[in-house]
Amino acid sequence: MSNLITYVDVILPLALPQAYTYAVPIDLIDFVKVGQRVIVQFGKNRYYSSIIKSIHHNKPAFDAKLIEGIAEEDPIITETQLQFWQWMASYYMCTEGEVMNAALPSGLKISSETRIKYNENYDGDFEGLNEEEFTIVQALRAQIELKVPQVQDLLKKKNVYPLLKTLFNLGIAISSEELVEKFKPKTDTYVKLHTDYEDQEKLKDLFDELSRAPKQIELLLAFTQLGRKAKYIKKNELLELAKTDAGVLKRLVEKQVFVEFKIEVSRLGNFQTAEVDSPELSTEQIEALKQINEHFTDKNVVLLHGVTGSGKTVVYIEKIKEIIEQGKQVVYLLPEIALTAQIINRLRKVFGNVVGIYHSKFNQNERVEIWNKVLHNEYKIVIGARSAVFLPYHDLGLIIVDEEHDTALKQMHPAPRYHGRDAGIMLAHLYNAKVILGTATPSVETYFNCERGKYGLVQLHNRYSGVEMPEFIVSNTRDAIRRKKMNGSFTNLLVEEISLALQNKEQVILFLNRRGFANYQVCKTCNHISKCKNCDVSLTYHKFQNQLICHYCGYFEKVSNKCKACGAIDLDIVGMGTEKIEDEIAELFPSAKVGRLDYDATKTKHGHSNVISKFENREIDILVGTQMVSKGLDFDHVTLVGIINADQLIHHPGYRSYEKAFQLIMQVAGRAGRKQKRGRVVIQTADPSHPIIQNVLSADYNAMYQRELVHRRQFNYPPYTRMIEVTLENKKIQTVEQSALYLVNETRKYKQGLVLGPAIPYVSKINNYYIREALIKSNQQTKELAQLKFSLQQVLDKIKSLPDIRTTHISIDVDP
Ligand code: ADP
Ligand code: ZN
Repeated sequence: MSNLITYVDVILPLALPQAYTYAVPIDLIDFVKVGQRVIVQFGKNRYYSSIIKSIHHNKPAFDAKLIEGIAEEDPIITETQLQFWQWMASYYMCTEGEVMNAALPSGLKISSETRIKYNENYDGDFEGLNEEEFTIVQALRAQIELKVPQVQDLLKKKNVYPLLKTLFNLGIAISSEELVEKFKPKTDTYVKLHTDYEDQEKLKDLFDELSRAPKQIELLLAFTQLGRKAKYIKKNELLELAKTDAGVLKRLVEKQVFVEFKIEVSRLGNFQTAEVDSPELSTEQIEALKQINEHFTDKNVVLLHGVTGSGKTVVYIEKIKEIIEQGKQVVYLLPEIALTAQIINRLRKVFGNVVGIYHSKFNQNERVEIWNKVLHNEYKIVIGARSAVFLPYHDLGLIIVDEEHDTALKQMHPAPRYHGRDAGIMLAHLYNAKVILGTATPSVETYFNCERGKYGLVQLHNRYSGVEMPEFIVSNTRDAIRRKKMNGSFTNLLVEEISLALQNKEQVILFLNRRGFANYQVCKTCNHISKCKNCDVSLTYHKFQNQLICHYCGYFEKVSNKCKACGAIDLDIVGMGTEKIEDEIAELFPSAKVGRLDYDATKTKHGHSNVISKFENREIDILVGTQMVSKGLDFDHVTLVGIINADQLIHHPGYRSYEKAFQLIMQVAGRAGRKQKRGRVVIQTADPSHPIIQNVLSADYNAMYQRELVHRRQFNYPPYTRMIEVTLENKKIQTVEQSALYLVNETRKYKQGLVLGPAIPYVSKINNYYIREALIKSNQQTKELAQLKFSLQQVLDKIKSLPDIRTTHISIDVDP
């Protein structure tokens, strides 16, 4: 018998540096478990659901508060997930609370900010309620809404969560801000015959009884006809079948002829398990699979480097089969939500209903439902964006990271700023699972890891169809301008290629990595460029809205024809964006159907898939787009790809710009000529001799890679160094400069790594915040990096205690 007090350390969904300790009330001691959600008070009158990280008897140095209650009996987070959160927080230098925030669907988070309302649609009674519950209901009906602290005042007790939970569960109360968000299973109403009438005689009598109610007879008839196949039917279907209205059914329910009941259904839609045989592998694909398996005997990660259309997906499918036959789960990560639709169709054809999909476009209810299906092992395969690494897998066998080179796999904002590929590799490690990275254009880091023997390398050199890789044609814009062989933004050569393709009834993709109509508006008299009033960037002209829009903060203003600086009325719009290309092309080819795929065209929920399916159905002949067109899409009739401005890709700031330009051009080119015919890719550039253009022309990844390595070594960039980027923001320019200087000087005192900066970034002001940056480089050793992070953290903590600069917001990006 011990009289030790039990404590729990919990993770709060806040940026707290460490877990917080609470005491457990005696009546709850037997119920607390690691990974469970508990409600705690934090700060004055604020309540949060938090996750138990550990249970112990070590009295903390402060007076621990009691936990308020347990949200549900079973843990919702596994121990492995907790380990994963811990790793992520320490590797990416953020708090576990921030990781928790990213990881949990908000349907699983409630806090004192939650407002509670009476559900006006509630049609039941209050008989089952206890006195306290009833008091809350009365208060709710008298007022518009209550917050949790008000309920606590009302009942003069703290632990009101179980009471609220009962009211939520019964549908008497709802939380207002989460009206749609809060997880509630979706149900369908079904109808069945009362058991009395299962007896044929009685049923016959019933028909006689109802003889004067022809509509009710009709409904009954409709049901009995159906009844041969199924004992019950969906209410809507029955009404439709009997061509009658709900009133008729209601009367029959009142007469206890029919019984209504609800069945919980999935919001995610059901898919026929029309399992089909997956395609038979080609010899090259069989060989690749064999090599993957060989590598897996002594390595955990394999890179599948295969040209576009070589059948990487087909190889994944074979490997997935093997893993789920072992009873394990598979995660399939993709950089872009847009890509998930195509892949999910392919996988569902083979695997049926065990394939789930997870990404941020889903609403909270759907996300909680998927969460639970993974937890209960109903989903064996999850296709998702990077956040799919947070799902509660129990036996993960394989992680596939498709398009591993794609920077969209990295989360930019907010913390944790994690890379889906690297987090996936860590996650696999925790589960003892394997990883396949797939791409046609590997990232330099990944290829480097293969060369060093850390990852296995498997290659597919040929397209499955046997169709050759596209033919690249350079079109020199400098030359064309000089010889007056331009049509607006297009060289004559590209225009000819487009008309040829159209004549042959083939489709065309035109790629330009800048949305909007033009770059900017400039005054011809004084050269003034319209800039954002919040950010240090020029505004982009959008013709359709007739606005100048900031691509950083969304600020916009109406286009004016008068210069704000000098008042002259002679403004010019220079540069080009997808909108302008779309316009010009429509003018050049008036009978062609032109579509556009970029961020602006896809803002609506289905915008993206609409454009894509139109293109697939050939309702669009020419598709103009940003890098969205480059990603994995598989169109059969595209024979021509035009890269409008390769120079703009190459001369982008950042040490990865050459690598990225090569990847983007190769990826877009991969859209050309997939099934029957060899494709053509026209690259418009003012500098055809540029090494990147040369590498593209010879489709020589290796040459690009080797040259990049030389540069990276020379200038100390990854993969030879590890980098941490520190971004400081403040509304006051002096303060941000002072903070940056302090950070850099203090970090240097530790004499670890190389501290560069402070620097004024390319865009030095966003949303009225001035920005400064520092870059910290460490050698490759994990140990040095860890020490460096530790020192940096000390400096960050010090800054928080300095009144002059503590207002500066600092964000840390590891492996930027
Ligand atoms: P990747 O992922 O490497 O770009 P995909 O897996 O999408 O390549 O394959 C390209 C095309 O070739 C797809 O239409 C696919 O169905 C087809 N394909 C690839 N391998 C096979 C195979 N073994 N049998 C039948 N079709 C295949
Ligand atoms: Zn702006």
